[in-house]
Amino acid sequence: MLKKARQILKQYFGYSSFKSGQDKILNNILQGKDTLGIMPTGGGKSICYQIPALMFQGTTLVISPLISLMKDQVDALNSLGIAATFINSSLDSDEVEKRIFDSGHGKYKLLYVAPERLESKRFINSIKSLSISMLAVDEAHCVSQWGHDFRPSYLAINTVVKELDKRPVVTAFTATATEEVTQDIVRLLSLKTPKIYVAGFNRENLSFTVIRGENKKDFISDYLARNKGQAGVIYAATRKEVDNLEHWLQRKGYAVGKYHAGLNDDERIRNQEKFIYDDLQIMVATNAFGMGIDKSNVRYVIHYNMPKNMEAYYQEAGRAGRDGEPSQCILLFSSQDVQIQKFLIEQNQVPVERKVNEYKKLQAMVDYCHTTHCLRGTILKYFGEENVPKECGNCSNCNDYNELVDRTVESQKIFSCILRMQEQYGVSLVANVLKGSQNKKVIQNGFNRLSTYGLMKEYTTKEISDLIHILIAEGYIYLTEGQYPVAKLQPKAIPVLKGKEKVLQKVRKKESIKEADNS
Ligand code: ADP
Ligand code: ZN
Repeated sequence: MLKKARQILKQYFGYSSFKSGQDKILNNILQGKDTLGIMPTGGGKSICYQIPALMFQGTTLVISPLISLMKDQVDALNSLGIAATFINSSLDSDEVEKRIFDSGHGKYKLLYVAPERLESKRFINSIKSLSISMLAVDEAHCVSQWGHDFRPSYLAINTVVKELDKRPVVTAFTATATEEVTQDIVRLLSLKTPKIYVAGFNRENLSFTVIRGENKKDFISDYLARNKGQAGVIYAATRKEVDNLEHWLQRKGYAVGKYHAGLNDDERIRNQEKFIYDDLQIMVATNAFGMGIDKSNVRYVIHYNMPKNMEAYYQEAGRAGRDGEPSQCILLFSSQDVQIQKFLIEQNQVPVERKVNEYKKLQAMVDYCHTTHCLRGTILKYFGEENVPKECGNCSNCNDYNELVDRTVESQKIFSCILRMQEQYGVSLVANVLKGSQNKKVIQNGFNRLSTYGLMKEYTTKEISDLIHILIAEGYIYLTEGQYPVAKLQPKAIPVLKGKEKVLQKVRKKESIKEADNS
């Protein structure tokens, strides 16, 4: 069957091989099994239902929320010689009836419909006359309130499936890979023992770098001097920060523009266009920038502040290198960024369980900034990709952190200090106790009498808390969710405490730091 699919891929779409994951998804759908395909934007989701639609008997109903794009999508298919049409509110009822009738008589293989249609009893009755072999739900995250684009009418999809005499194969596609959304899609669309495929998240031409504990402006200054004439985006957390950075770079003589929600429409559009047409080299922006922009030659995306979660980070960083050329994604981390994000979570008027969820996601982002494992691997694992390389050779951890250092003794000191403090306190207080600080909170709680007090006094408090954050990122310690997270030990820490296992950590080789300084 896959052979036939490959033939169609070549014949209609002109491609000779499948993109990552397409073959597995197709294979599953062609066996008549419900399927959920999770792929990033541009990953090639459409072909995953268009090819089966051509191979199945009868009609495939495609649910798509992008009403404004529906006509374009269908026109594009028609130009490839694929029989498709659409039904949405731009058509009068005669035309709607005609298109349904024609579908029933084999004129169309694909029928695109807006989700709102499914709420109409009349529409459901008229499509009952069709032989619908498959229902493909595009942008399936719209069914979930956890997603970023909840559409109540998506909830009607389930009803339609139940009303049809013969249950079609139900397939769903989205770029959102979070657990809550995935579970909602399966549940709310009543997918029957579905296979879930996560694919295409790896972008090989992107390199990933995390910079911690360096002066951010110095870094940018050096970086831009080394990358003159290259187009890039610098994301910052707040409008004020964007204004400051833009002003600063302007004074340095760069062709720089800015983009954030505080500017008026004209300004925003003008700046965006200038950037797209290469009249501006650098765009400094908040996360408001990027929706729907498609500039292919962005050579770097620098995050001046850490974003709120991995989804946001990967989407923004992923705006680099759309042309497939080598491009860099650099995140400049400072612990203040975590404070900013916590503040923003607290400001949100959302139910408690939502906040807990946001804190969890924030922690995964913080972990990314501290892990010593492969950054690409960390990203792909987060999104649930199956084939994750242990080392990619194209991220700062693979390239620069190449010396193994034994951190067992330091880790034991940290773990036992956390235990002595009854697993009731946050990272900075633990670090202060280990440092032997005279900090008021340390003294008030009597932690200066603990046996672990001052046990790491030869380190700075920052070095100790950095090490704790690395141990969190690597799963030895976990932080409770909330505004004031508390450090507790994970089971993985116990054999280390008992001296049965070592903690080996990759660190930056001295030379690679020098190299970076010189370049
Ligand atoms: P998505 O819906 O996941 O954002 P699309 O289905 O629009 O992605 O596909 C993104 C692009 O990749 C389109 O230009 C499409 O033609 C192209 N594409 C899809 N499958 C393949 C393939 N097997 N080989 C090459 N290009 C492909
Ligand atoms: Zn790597």
